[in-house]
Amino acid sequence: MPLVTMKEVLQEAKEKQIGCGAFSVGNMEMVKGAIAAAEALQTPIILQIAEVRLPHSPLHMIGPLMVAAAKEAKVKVAVHLDHGTTMETIEQALEIGFTSVMFDGSTLPFAENIEMTKKVVKKAQCYGATMEAELGHVGGSEDGSHNQAILYTNPEEAHIFCEETGVDALAVAIGNAHGAYTAEPKLAFDVLEEIANVVPIPLVLHGGSGITDTDFQRCISLGVHKVNIATASFHGMVQAVEGYINKEEKHNYFDLSTAMVAGVCQNVTRHIEVFGTKYSNEI
Ligand SMILES: [Zn+2]
Repeated sequence: MPLVTMKEVLQEAKEKQIGCGAFSVGNMEMVKGAIAAAEALQTPIILQIAEVRLPHSPLHMIGPLMVAAAKEAKVKVAVHLDHGTTMETIEQALEIGFTSVMFDGSTLPFAENIEMTKKVVKKAQCYGATMEAELGHVGGSEDGSHNQAILYTNPEEAHIFCEETGVDALAVAIGNAHGAYTAEPKLAFDVLEEIANVVPIPLVLHGGSGITDTDFQRCISLGVHKVNIATASFHGMVQAVEGYINKEEKHNYFDLSTAMVAGVCQNVTRHIEVFGTKYSNEI
């Protein structure tokens, strides 16, 4: 099954009324774990890495690995740059063969976000790639370095933004935040519904780690078709490593690597199952 655009997997998810998981990766074991889960469940996924993670996993090394793994996968896989902040990195990802890029101009003034997003849409189109943008502020920050306050996406602005820029997917802020939640997140489903009513493209939920299964499914029923999972996968891998190291046996790299793959696979499997199950408010 080929490497495909994110647009294609999101369109399919929309038709099936499910969510497509977008799983962050940082090394080969994470890539292998995510793809193993997707293949076992025969479900397309998105592999992604955020620009802020590149000091640990340089794009020129992890990027080709992600693309190669996607090309060999038995399910459709899109490869995406998450939270791109510079045109330079976005171009580098597209050159490597990423089939989708995000430009995060959410901290820019509205008009400037539109201008920059338009430029990235144009660039992505040259490569036949998909483009995701963000409006409003998702809380926290991708690498946990600062705690940005949540600013809800304004539905009216979202409508204008999508019309003007021609983006393929829009990340929304509805009370979601990056990293681990310190208190139970309270999502504004009314805001999400208002946005979905005026924005025809798939919506994206960032900060997925810590949102309840029911809330995920409710978001999907209201127009979210891409759900980002990063923190839960990194935790899943570290937990699996801890489990292996705590075993009273002689350790070796190969079993350690297997444990890392299994830890990520378990987390991705769980999320794919949740995103593929329809929302029900009956208890
Ligand atoms: Zn994000």
